[in-house]
Amino acid sequence: APYRAVDVHELLESTLLMLSAKFGSGIQVVREYDRALPPVPAYPAELNQVWTNLIDNAVSAIRSSGGEGTLTVRTARDHDRVLVEFRDTGPGIPAEIRGRIFDPFFTTKPVGEGTGLGLDISWRIVVNKHHGTLRVDSEPGDTRFQVLLPLTAEQP
Ligand code: ADP
Ligand code: MG
Repeated sequence: APYRAVDVHELLESTLLMLSAKFGSGIQVVREYDRALPPVPAYPAELNQVWTNLIDNAVSAIRSSGGEGTLTVRTARDHDRVLVEFRDTGPGIPAEIRGRIFDPFFTTKPVGEGTGLGLDISWRIVVNKHHGTLRVDSEPGDTRFQVLLPLTAEQP
């Protein structure tokens, strides 16, 4: 898919629609969209992959802790960047593994369930392909993955 001006909310909605079958009844999805957000220069198919990985992780985290919880998808303008945040009420990421979750093949999921590549690929798409930032903040019951994409980027 070509580099173009992407409507972040339209892309998020199409990703959420694709994944909606996986949510089941226990997962509530809350949208906190900044409707004034400008389009962001990006590769939509790649960003769809990032959203998919982050939502998939959030849903598994919620499932692993009783099965009920909330996924909040928030967007905001941050100066010359756009923020897309995925927040879940799952168990959180233990401090002792936080430094390794972006490593290729690092997974805490059973064999056959996780490849350990989702965050590695997401990192490469956000950072290398979009000159953006991917960061995580986690405590029990509140984990946030934040994607920051520059609005001013030349095509990387
Ligand atoms: P995979 O999902 O195949 O395990 P990822 O690269 O997507 O691989 O994630 C690596 C690991 O990071 C996961 O196995 C899990 O331990 C941790 N992780 C990622 N997202 C979350 C989250 N939202 N809550 C708790 N742990 C997470
Ligand atoms: Mg994953």
